[in-house]
Amino acid sequence: MNDSLSGLKFFVRTFGCQMNENDSEHIAGVLAGAGAGRADGPEDADIVVVNTCAVREKSEEKLYSYLGRLSGLKRKRHFLLGVAGCVAQVRKAELLKKRPFVDFVVGPDNYLDLPAMVRNAAEAPAVLTDWGRDWREVGPEATVRENGWSAFVPVMEGCDNFCAYCIVPFSRGREKFRPLPNILEEVRRAAGEGALEIQLLGQNVNSYKDPESGLGFAGLLDLVCAVPGAAWVRFITSHPKNFGDGIIEAMARNPKVCRSLHLPLQSGSSRVLERMNRGYNREDYLALAGRIKAGLPGILLSTDVIVGFPGETEEDFEATCGLLREVRFANIFSFRYSPRPLTEAARIPDDVPLEVKRRRLIALQQLQRTIQIELNESFVGRDVRVLCTGPSVKGGGRYAGRTEGNQVANFDAASDPTGQFVTVRVKGAGPYSLHGEIA
Ligand code: SF4
Repeated sequence: MNDSLSGLKFFVRTFGCQMNENDSEHIAGVLAGAGAGRADGPEDADIVVVNTCAVREKSEEKLYSYLGRLSGLKRKRHFLLGVAGCVAQVRKAELLKKRPFVDFVVGPDNYLDLPAMVRNAAEAPAVLTDWGRDWREVGPEATVRENGWSAFVPVMEGCDNFCAYCIVPFSRGREKFRPLPNILEEVRRAAGEGALEIQLLGQNVNSYKDPESGLGFAGLLDLVCAVPGAAWVRFITSHPKNFGDGIIEAMARNPKVCRSLHLPLQSGSSRVLERMNRGYNREDYLALAGRIKAGLPGILLSTDVIVGFPGETEEDFEATCGLLREVRFANIFSFRYSPRPLTEAARIPDDVPLEVKRRRLIALQQLQRTIQIELNESFVGRDVRVLCTGPSVKGGGRYAGRTEGNQVANFDAASDPTGQFVTVRVKGAGPYSLHGEIA
């Protein structure tokens, strides 16, 4: 069959994390590789792919509401509508039953088959959600990056941990690791094309093991940092239970590795952590955070927290607040627990009332807001290096970017520095950003 899509235009809409954003770059790359061109929006596209996250109920709800809008558009003009990513993998053909205007459903391990799928879907609805145990290389040649200055580089996919609340082992499958030569080739290529920042991606990056040599994540960091060009290296997401001292040492000997780290906590109560099957307790986490801060002075930590996990008491919640006060994260992503299909926790009663979950979430966010104000204010008067990502959402002709510690910085600049490093003199700070001017 001829899988050429030349003459057609595609539009990809992404909901979710950096992994999903990177998947969308692959989807765009595969469709462009088959000859399709980019559309500016769904209104002028022949193929619309909605790439989604299934981790939280809310993100799935967002998908259904966006699909509703697209079905209205589909009544006015014809185009092929596909759902990709985690929701596609978990819901499979059920999606076609629930939303019959969807033409194809494609799981994260099948993007290379998209051109053939799109052709088939023109005849009849198609579903492809196969899993392989081995890494399926999409490669930089089939990647259309969203920007030239920051490059996502996947190093692994999937998860073997089965945290009680988490759908990822079902939506992304078991852990599989990308061969080291492919990672290094993509890093070299991105750096050669001018990327200033490399972001290594995976659900558990720090469990990385090269399938051929067995080299672990610390060794990978050394090799990635040895590639000339990009000045910053970041990685996400790390699991606390696999975060050995060797990784702290590798970060310390490689100044290119940004002094910021996302280290999901989920709860500060050992009792809840055990019920969540996280593989560490409160003391382990505090000890690790202490070693990281001691080994990497000035590092800023961020985290994820779930409130209202089944059985969470006021005392458990207070333990989480106490841990936030102690570690002083620079940022947190906090959520109310909601049961996800297929997970262990979905089988136990969701017994923390909604009002209690709401109250705890607000209290947690207020506490964190105070911590962030204090922390960000300590940057006032300092010069910080910022990678400019474009005009500030706050408008006013200002620009925005990220510091090495991953704080948002808004600043005035005489000319457009998008995609460049600038030094910003911090004049003020709020809970969620710094602001200043070019030094
Ligand atoms: S470590 Fe736990 S929370 Fe993270 S992806 Fe795996 S199962 Fe989900």
